[in-house]
Amino acid sequence: MLKNYDIVIIGASAAGITAGLTARKYYPQKSIICITDVSKVPIPCGIPYVFGTIGDAMKNLIPVENMCKANNIDLVNDKVIKINREFKLVLLESNESYGYQKLVIANGSNPIIPTIEGTSLENVFMIRKDPSYLTTMMKQIDESKKIVIIGGGFIGAEMAEECRKRRLEIEITIIEMQQHCLQLVYDEEFTILAEKALIDQKINLLTQEKVKKLVGHKAVEQVILESGKIVEADMVLLCIGCSANISLAQEAGLRIGPTRGILVDSYMRTSDTDIFACGDVCEKVSFFDQKPSNLKLASIATAEARIAGRNLFENKRKMEGVIGCFSTALGGLAFCAAGLTESQATAKGFEVVCGVGESVNRHPGLMPGAGNMKVKLIFNKKDTALIGAEIFGAISGGELINALSVCISQKITAENLVTFQAATHPALTASPIAYQLVNAAEMACVKLN
Ligand SMILES: Cc1cc2nc3c(=O)[nH]c(=O)nc-3n(C[C@H](O)[C@H](O)[C@H](O)COP(=O)(O)OP(=O)(O)OC[C@H]3O[C@@H](n4cnc5c(N)ncnc54)[C@H](O)[C@@H]3O)c2cc1C
Repeated sequence: MLKNYDIVIIGASAAGITAGLTARKYYPQKSIICITDVSKVPIPCGIPYVFGTIGDAMKNLIPVENMCKANNIDLVNDKVIKINREFKLVLLESNESYGYQKLVIANGSNPIIPTIEGTSLENVFMIRKDPSYLTTMMKQIDESKKIVIIGGGFIGAEMAEECRKRRLEIEITIIEMQQHCLQLVYDEEFTILAEKALIDQKINLLTQEKVKKLVGHKAVEQVILESGKIVEADMVLLCIGCSANISLAQEAGLRIGPTRGILVDSYMRTSDTDIFACGDVCEKVSFFDQKPSNLKLASIATAEARIAGRNLFENKRKMEGVIGCFSTALGGLAFCAAGLTESQATAKGFEVVCGVGESVNRHPGLMPGAGNMKVKLIFNKKDTALIGAEIFGAISGGELINALSVCISQKITAENLVTFQAATHPALTASPIAYQLVNAAEMACVKLN
């Protein structure tokens, strides 16, 4: 049976639900439906915490039903199997179809499975955004003695820490092919601190090691590395990233970009102007040089969704490119980054000037909740604009990095940062004399002088 809607959205995770809520605000008269193929949508960034801190996949859900109900958005639990652009409808697995005036594709990404032998052995898991899969995975963690995590990015590191929280006695090993874990997101001095936070929790790190194959009879037993080393394992977690879910769009003849995402313009329109795409499924360009970017983050997905949802019937908002702003917490310490690291900036051809500010985030330092915070700022020497920031230490860094992301987006300079007026308070921040980001900017100004 065919039902018609003004706006049809595929997916109801970070991008899909945000696109729907945004569209509802600006187009109150339009009928909207979200279609999701999972009955319960997990908070994707909360997934690692399901295994330790939260302890239950069903307690880590986006309240999609309530959000839709409160905003007059219809919600259906079904899978879109085809987009028919000629008749402007989507076909569902149940054989229902929905006609659209405007379609938003927000069907996200799937974990990458490496092309090595043994990934289909029992007890080899990836990080799927599906609570029932995560519950099965949790049961296996409870039965395992030697967990090997392939990939030492932020998901692998968070998974390792949460497995440790759940099981104090077991062996946990991360295998990472770069020189350091988290190397793709932080400069070396921060990756060393992050590795220390993991080692302190008795997590083994095998860096500069590439996995050759997984072996076992029925279930996985060993991870064989290209160096010849063998790591015993009764559970393996694949944490090597994700790829855009482009098959629906591809079959519908929409253009695909160089990083294998759905190609969109800065208004989030695909090559069909009645179809928008946002989130992990779509192609991105870097804010810094407009070159293709592989970044896939919830912060990007929701920003894109706010642009797509607003622009459905008029071009109002523009995407200027992805900055890349994200954080993790390891060993109770914040590791945060926005924009380019010093090494990424240099690799992109920027001449950079960096400054570092480090101090306790209360004044005096004996105030409750005091902790050390280190801020590194990276400026473009040419125009002295902020192009990157990294923060380590006190958890308030998790919010400070967001303010720095705004500064990057607005091309705020080192001098702007030195002279800005910060609210400081003994119980809440560093002293105005030792304010980390100001002192980091001042160090850069001295070098630029
Ligand atoms: C373990 C983990 C931790 C993360 N931590 C962070 C973090 O701390 N910070 C951060 O910024 N980012 C983080 N990310 C990245 C973030 O989760 C993604 O960028 C974000 O989920 C993208 O949202 P999305 O809505 O585009 O896609 P998805 O979250 O992938 O959602 C797509 C939805 O569409 C549904 N769907 C797919 N195909 C169909 C279909 N044919 N019909 C109907 N429905 C369909 C899917 O089931 C899914 O619910 C993390 C990712 C993972 C896996």
